[in-house]
Amino acid sequence: RPGSGRIPAGPPARPRSVRAKAPGKVNVSLSVGPARPDGYHSVASVYLAVSLFEEVTATTTAEPGVTVSLSPESTLDLEGAEIPLDERNLAVRAARLMAEVSEKATGVHLEITKRVPVAGGMGGGSADAAATLLACDALWDSGLSKEELAHLAAELGADVPFALLGGAAVGLGVGDRLSPALASARLDWVLVPADYGLSTPAVFAELDRLRGAEGIDVPEPTEVEAGILAALRSGDSGGLSHLLVNDLQRAAISLAPQLRDTLGWADSHGALASLVSGSGPTVAVLVRDAAAAAETVASLAHLGVEAHAVHGPVPGARILSDTLL
Ligand code: ATP
Repeated sequence: RPGSGRIPAGPPARPRSVRAKAPGKVNVSLSVGPARPDGYHSVASVYLAVSLFEEVTATTTAEPGVTVSLSPESTLDLEGAEIPLDERNLAVRAARLMAEVSEKATGVHLEITKRVPVAGGMGGGSADAAATLLACDALWDSGLSKEELAHLAAELGADVPFALLGGAAVGLGVGDRLSPALASARLDWVLVPADYGLSTPAVFAELDRLRGAEGIDVPEPTEVEAGILAALRSGDSGGLSHLLVNDLQRAAISLAPQLRDTLGWADSHGALASLVSGSGPTVAVLVRDAAAAAETVASLAHLGVEAHAVHGPVPGARILSDTLL
């Protein structure tokens, strides 16, 4: 790798700031295989990028290194959300990785606007990493190809390549081997965040435990249900509603039984279908259209539950602005 984050000789570059955004995701289907020797699980999943975006502003600093802060514009209540502001932060790891391959890397400060529920199974940290890769690529004129960016993304985490790509895609391997899928029409969803998080590794471990106790051996998933792809292609939300699957759902419910209440409420209030998103605990409710989404959000607000009306597919990571300071 060239550069290794060295500061170039010559006059200092003008301070610069690049803002990028990347979407959260819903797993429309998620089949999980057995635990592999490396501890990961093979999955077969259909990802859908939805209109809840993280934003990252990357600004050059005179001091070397990577620092991070959370923007007061964040729509999430960040009290109690355990977001590390050191090298454990996925955005910080993304900037460091990009610095390793960028000749013109400088010190950088990252400011993250959080909108995707933290530890909610919607890939919020992965979206931060994807937005950071793109922002730092522009900030340092690294000029990486899409393929090179996707390769760095996969080093950071299984869900990061999809946050870069966006749209709809089939994910195999640990979810990082992506093939874009056609999704012609808009699908409307209501996302119901929980006021607690679930750790992704803990939910996978619970699924292994439940399967072990039942003596169930599952094969490695190698493909997704063709009907799901057909329903996405034709924008048939009614057809899709019968095909949503999430193997992690029962493990998430086992760890957080109150999820049943949210799923049950949605099913008795006009949802086409509802499921736990990824490892949860956010619940994704598929509804007929934008009006139904607004009604569902209003009904939940009456119960004191804050929910988000979103739609998908939406594009992956994008640059929003690039400013010389
Ligand atoms: P996934 O579905 O991709 O497994 P998630 O959406 O359930 O993830 P995230 O919000 O991405 O969960 O974060 C999970 C954990 O990762 C958090 O609890 C936090 O400790 C840590 N983390 C690291 N970087 C970030 C970040 N930039 N934003 C939020 N959490 C982060």
